[in-house]
Amino acid sequence: MQRLTLGWLVACGIAAAQPYQALLIDGQNNHDWQATTPILRAILEESKLFRVTVATTPPKGQDMTEFRPDFARYRVVVSNYNGEPWPAATNADFARYVQQGGGFVSVHAADNAFPEWPDYNEMIGVGGWGNRNEKDGPYVRWRGGRIVHDAVPGRGGSHGRQHAFAVTAREPGHPILAGLPAVWMHVQDELYDRLRGPARNLTVLATAHSDPGTGGTGEHEPVLMTVRYGQGRVFHTTLGHSPEAMSCTGFRTTLQRGAEWAASGLVTQPVPDDFPDAQTVRRREQ
Ligand code: ZN
Repeated sequence: MQRLTLGWLVACGIAAAQPYQALLIDGQNNHDWQATTPILRAILEESKLFRVTVATTPPKGQDMTEFRPDFARYRVVVSNYNGEPWPAATNADFARYVQQGGGFVSVHAADNAFPEWPDYNEMIGVGGWGNRNEKDGPYVRWRGGRIVHDAVPGRGGSHGRQHAFAVTAREPGHPILAGLPAVWMHVQDELYDRLRGPARNLTVLATAHSDPGTGGTGEHEPVLMTVRYGQGRVFHTTLGHSPEAMSCTGFRTTLQRGAEWAASGLVTQPVPDDFPDAQTVRRREQ
């Protein structure tokens, strides 16, 4: 009876909270954020679970002092941002927001951002570029049937030539992956490799083999991850270089499910009928 009551209260709480308020941050990126932000917004809102507000920083080189979103108003913050540092007060607000239970989703080059911000690197687990190397933490790879943290010296962040590649679930029971195929094809994208960072409280949900034939590492590199940061939940996808990559039903579905999990700790969405399988990529209209 006690469990039923608790479940009923939780269910009511969730129902009352939806749609979740989501904040999507952009404004600077070495990628085409003007093209991808509307796509990310559409993907999130397609789920009917989110109402998205976009916060755009000043352009590169402009005064960032006034950029200070009220993170606490949102259940999840989604970053499409890879640019200049935010003000110290904004960094502190954001770290506190996630620490106290806020959700965070890092998309593709958002894990290139803020190499000098320790809390951010804790949140994303691993990142690339920005002079990241062994000082920032280990590489994280799937080797011999388990996740291995490798502290060997070397650069943090690179990728081979774009191509379609298979994504393999490594935590198939996690709510974000539950019910999805064990392996599915992702459309042509950049496959990030050599990411490194503190990797604390990091769970690798899925990896992809970085093929030396396309300029990769020969390792099974993490592509979908979660991080626990204080009371907060982080979903980190390295996928999504371009609008083309974001058309992948696998990208869209895992983003929707990862964002719901970051916001609530649950995934209530069914697996779509057009989810890709191990042989064939599947796209959805933008
Ligand atoms: Zn890219």
